[in-house]
Amino acid sequence: MAEKAASLSDKLKAISDRFAAKIDQKTADIEAACELFLSSGKGADAPGARAEAINLTHRLAGSSGSMGFPELGDAAKALEVSLIAVSGDAAAEARRAITPAVEAFAAAARRKTRAALPAAAAVEQAPAAVQPAAEKLIYLLDGDRDAAGDLSLQLGYFGYTVEAFADTGGLGDALSKETPAAMMVDFAFVGSGGMGIEALSSRRQADGAVPPSIFISHLDDLETRLGTVRAGGDAFFTKPLDMGRLVEILDGLTAYAPPDPYRVLVIDDVRDLAESYALILEDAGLETQVVTDPMEVMKPLTEFQPDLLLMDINMPNCSGFELARVIRQQEAYVQIPIIFLTADRSKTGRLSAMETGGDEYLTKPVRPDLLLTSVIGRAERSRTVAAMISRDSMTRLPNHTKIKEHLDMELDRAKRQDHPLSLAMIDIDHFKAVNDTHGHLTGDHVIQALSQVLRQRLRKTDIVGRYGGEEFAAILPNTDGPAAFKVLEGIREGFGRIRHMAADAEFFITFSCGIAAYPPIDMAKALIAAADAALYRAKGEGRNRTALADGKNN
Ligand code: GH3
Ligand code: MG
Ligand code: MG
Repeated sequence: MAEKAASLSDKLKAISDRFAAKIDQKTADIEAACELFLSSGKGADAPGARAEAINLTHRLAGSSGSMGFPELGDAAKALEVSLIAVSGDAAAEARRAITPAVEAFAAAARRKTRAALPAAAAVEQAPAAVQPAAEKLIYLLDGDRDAAGDLSLQLGYFGYTVEAFADTGGLGDALSKETPAAMMVDFAFVGSGGMGIEALSSRRQADGAVPPSIFISHLDDLETRLGTVRAGGDAFFTKPLDMGRLVEILDGLTAYAPPDPYRVLVIDDVRDLAESYALILEDAGLETQVVTDPMEVMKPLTEFQPDLLLMDINMPNCSGFELARVIRQQEAYVQIPIIFLTADRSKTGRLSAMETGGDEYLTKPVRPDLLLTSVIGRAERSRTVAAMISRDSMTRLPNHTKIKEHLDMELDRAKRQDHPLSLAMIDIDHFKAVNDTHGHLTGDHVIQALSQVLRQRLRKTDIVGRYGGEEFAAILPNTDGPAAFKVLEGIREGFGRIRHMAADAEFFITFSCGIAAYPPIDMAKALIAAADAALYRAKGEGRNRTALADGKNN
């Protein structure tokens, strides 16, 4: 960590040095503008020169502090204030009121007094934004080899790898070598003597890491349940195991999908500043993209899909406030959080930041720890809100509207990068009969099981959504029709072998699938229609199968 912090301060120092090298030029520009303002005749160039001087001093005031030159920043600020205090068409004599501020500024610029850069220690204490990826290896301790084999197979359909052991010795050895994502233990090994508990837990602690554990048993009495709690079990399942529920718990315990790092779009016309913010954020594990021209913000907005915008207010061509308004006019970005950055400490600035719908307002120079806390806090909330709006509450998958948005975006990307893309529509077979026979709740469990299978078995770059009641859509970027067909056939076969549980019975369920691909179909709507038509064909041909659209727009 110390090493990492050091390298961050090195990088910040390099940016600060780059800035330092430009101070003389910036100072000369400001002095020239002030000189022009002071020397021009009444009404001639004066207003323009004054505006230019204000613009330049404002920008320098905003960046100097963050770059490690607070004295220069303050002097620039003071000069800006005195420029603002004098009217553009004031008489030459009145204009001379700025002279002391110009001189003080020039002196500060010569001194280039450096202050310590943002402390690396502050950055180090920032909250962690990313969690390590989890393995999906499960250790299973079960004396019944058939049951163990069956469970391995079933969990395999959900994307878990199971290593089964028939005795505590084998499990202990394995645990001392590798810590699995979770372990499942038949309580018979622990229950009887009590000795088993200690043996197991001492082994577990051998390498310090205790994997989450699920106990399983064919018994469902209080004594057994109490025993599992005392043995440190995180969950308890009675046999026969309800796979859907079991996988739900396993998913939770193993957090199989670590959250993506937060994405922050940094918009500041001063590249050095923008890059220094980006560095601080990236060092804490966030992803960033930098935009220095506000007029170019639309492309990264749609492509990078930031969770949050970190935006300078004072920019040429278009102010941060204006840009925020433009961005928020678009439905997809109505609720994207914006953190404004400004050198302006006045109250009016604060007010307009609020009025624009900006969620927060940080003054430059920004302390790295404050920057991180604000950004991570806002991004977290932004994700939660976005998830509530765009995800189906039962499966947590993107809903109908969202999946169509994804399709538009992915299809655009596929065309740009000249990659294929496939769309799969998946519909559960005879689902109405499940509800009718086993009840709606059991039906819900089947829907959840299918959503888990799809998430686990598809690649991380694939997007799966709940398209309707018992219908799912999967977008497979960079995958042509035949390849998608193969993938979905594998998933279909696996899903058909999953044993579902109802109160009074076990049963199996299948789905049908229709696939369409770009190229040749090059419109989102046509892709959906073609995949739907293929799905309809799969149903007509007897269900429990996958059909590939022939490629014509139909
Ligand atoms: P097919 O093989 O032709 O697809 O037959 P099906 O019975 O699956 O299709 P149908 O469209 O006739 O019935 C779908 C049923 O799914 C009807 C609806 O009540 C049920 N359903 C939709 N959403 C949910 C849900 O969230 N939970 C449950 N339990 N049932 C749902
Ligand atoms: Mg159906
Ligand atoms: Mg249906």
